[in-house]
Amino acid sequence: MNNIPLKNVASEKVGKFVSAFRGHVIRPGDHDYEQARRVYNAMIDKRPGLIAQCADVADVITAVDFVRENNVTVSIRGGGHNAGGLGICDEGLVIDLSHMKGIRVDPKARTARVEGGSVWGDVDHVTHSFGFATPSGVISTTGVGGLTLGGGIGHLTRKHGLSIDNLLEVDVVLADGRFVTAGARENEDLFWAVRGGGGNFGVVTSFLFKLHPVSTVYAGPILWHLNQAQEVMQFYRDFIDKANENINGFFTFLTVPPGAPFPEHLHNKKMCGIVWCYTGPFENAEETFKPIRRVGTPALDFVGPMPQPTLQSLFDPIYPPGLQWYWKADFVNKLSDEAVAIHIKYGSELPSMHSTMHLYPINGEAHRVGRNDTAFSYRESTWAEVIVGVDPDPNKMKKIISWTKDYWSALHPHSAGGAYVNFMMEEGRDRVKATYRDNYNRLLDVKKKYDPSNLFHVNQNIS
Ligand SMILES: Cc1cc2nc3c(=O)[nH]c(=O)nc-3n(C[C@H](O)[C@H](O)[C@H](O)COP(=O)(O)OP(=O)(O)OC[C@H]3O[C@@H](n4cnc5c(N)ncnc54)[C@H](O)[C@@H]3O)c2cc1C
Repeated sequence: MNNIPLKNVASEKVGKFVSAFRGHVIRPGDHDYEQARRVYNAMIDKRPGLIAQCADVADVITAVDFVRENNVTVSIRGGGHNAGGLGICDEGLVIDLSHMKGIRVDPKARTARVEGGSVWGDVDHVTHSFGFATPSGVISTTGVGGLTLGGGIGHLTRKHGLSIDNLLEVDVVLADGRFVTAGARENEDLFWAVRGGGGNFGVVTSFLFKLHPVSTVYAGPILWHLNQAQEVMQFYRDFIDKANENINGFFTFLTVPPGAPFPEHLHNKKMCGIVWCYTGPFENAEETFKPIRRVGTPALDFVGPMPQPTLQSLFDPIYPPGLQWYWKADFVNKLSDEAVAIHIKYGSELPSMHSTMHLYPINGEAHRVGRNDTAFSYRESTWAEVIVGVDPDPNKMKKIISWTKDYWSALHPHSAGGAYVNFMMEEGRDRVKATYRDNYNRLLDVKKKYDPSNLFHVNQNIS
């Protein structure tokens, strides 16, 4: 495995690499090094030996050849959102794709070709002007690369599936430096593996996505006081199981931020809520929401028509980069009354303003794909659950970590076993195996074929 610190590589070799590189190379001590090594989660503090901000595919090939020939540790950085900081590494070389953000929509074919360093806000901006969207996440600053390669769960999951269910093709630079395309008709094994298997198989320089006519959505959060949490959660569990696929909603415990647009009497209140996204015929929207609005007494109802990119960036201001994040996750098939009670206990004890729990539905269209059709295995689960302790203050780290761990431990016996790879931190091989189940051995075979020396190991590793 390549694990030589970059400082041990002869300076002539590094110099040769730099002169062949077209993008920007950043080293420790450079004025922009501290900024460039930072990732979204401020808990991560890694110091790479070199950050190679690629300008194009040729740069990616040059960087892959350099790390392979010199046995240097390498990480691939897309949007830099990964909880465990897997886009960055200590002492090695970072293939930083953040300058590769080209996006091209083909309105006739209803596809978008997206370069590997784009974030979802870049994609929504472009596709929206054509009246289209493709399934992504719920925060616009998340990278297309990491989110898609792990699966991709968001507001359009029930209607249009996971991001990987809308992926038609990828361009990949492999460990041996070859550039290949993987899709339904070429390198099918690689295409199967990248749909859920993360960044294990190479650097994806571009993604081709299917687009859908989604433009204005009827969406937003509805919040309730915690004394109604049991009624709301039980309603939600039964509703989302059978609801028309035009509607998506993720459940959350949250603290209302102390500022506009939230009314003052709710500031800093711990509440529960559901964030909705309806994409059906507009004339049916009010009718669809009638049973939802009859649950308990909603304290706040922000649901209404809005452009799809507005929904996608609605929560960006609450979650800027630079906060401390600690994540734990599970897949969930059924939400028993006992599990609801555990949720309410810990949801009522959120340790900070930013800490939260989300239950994202992964049914509807996402259930129409079989558990062995893509590397993403938990197709029969109803939810991807994530518990995140979040706080700006590093001194509060202990508190948010222990709340997250206690909450997760109490609920884990009620879960399906594995967890969504993109909601895990570095939890080790057993958790990764539990996540891929009977797909793990096939992933190993693909890994052996395309990256036999495990060059790409800074990820939820298949090895
Ligand atoms: C605030 C926030 C909100 C989120 N919301 C959602 C959500 O709604 N839905 C959801 O599904 N997930 C969500 N996530 C999780 C997200 O999917 C993961 O954090 C994901 O890893 C982020 O991808 P990235 O490219 O930004 O990360 P990075 O840290 O850059 O990379 C993550 C991993 O992916 C690999 N990788 C990235 N790009 C490439 C590429 N082009 N080729 C090969 N490998 C690559 C990296 O090597 C690394 O292992 C959220 C995360 C955060 C922090």
